[in-house]
Amino acid sequence: MDDSARIREIYERISEAAKNWPPTTLSYYKGQPFKALIAAMLSAQTREEQTFLAMNNLFALADNPDDMLKLTDEQITEAIRPVMYWENKVKYVRDIAQRVAANGGVVPQTVDELMEYKGVGWKVAVLTLAVGYGRTEDITVDVHVGRIGKRLGLVNPDTKQPPKINEELKQKLPREYWPHWNGLMVQFGREVCKPTYPQCATCLVRDLCPQIGVVQTGPRSFKDAAYV
Ligand code: SF4
Repeated sequence: MDDSARIREIYERISEAAKNWPPTTLSYYKGQPFKALIAAMLSAQTREEQTFLAMNNLFALADNPDDMLKLTDEQITEAIRPVMYWENKVKYVRDIAQRVAANGGVVPQTVDELMEYKGVGWKVAVLTLAVGYGRTEDITVDVHVGRIGKRLGLVNPDTKQPPKINEELKQKLPREYWPHWNGLMVQFGREVCKPTYPQCATCLVRDLCPQIGVVQTGPRSFKDAAYV
């Protein structure tokens, strides 16, 4: 089997299995750029369940820039306290809401413009465009995408910078996979190819995986860390 056939088989098997796995937090905000931007920013360095909790808290109070600006810092703090670095993210929520409101309620549609916002780095910008606008110029790279890409032999093991991992993946993956790759890898990384103890013995793509860099495998009873 050549590499493109191998990649296609990996994608198809994981896509099929993912239908039965819990959705990612960001998937709830498809086609909703403002919510996608806030959720992506809050998700940084945070477990998915904590992001989900904070999102529900915050969007129950306000789900658009104008209403969010009416909230006090104390209200925002109480809502997003489950996420990491919430002290900074309170300021980022307010900055994002102010900028989007000043822009007529429209979230920017380029990575460069989004990265001018406080708390918005490359990953958050790409994720916002993918989820909020369905834009696919890049592949969102997080810890799952990087780790699994290396184990599957799609990314050089020494590559660390997310934009470089994105470029390497884009060389390998068909364009139609780009908007879905991050969500699939998040789900696959939570369920099977876990950070510390990947479930290689029962993995649905074991026969297609060189297991590059894997030093120990599951099963293991505790739950590995799961980040958006
Ligand atoms: S075989 Fe192991 S390393 Fe490869 S994708 Fe499956 S769980 Fe991950």
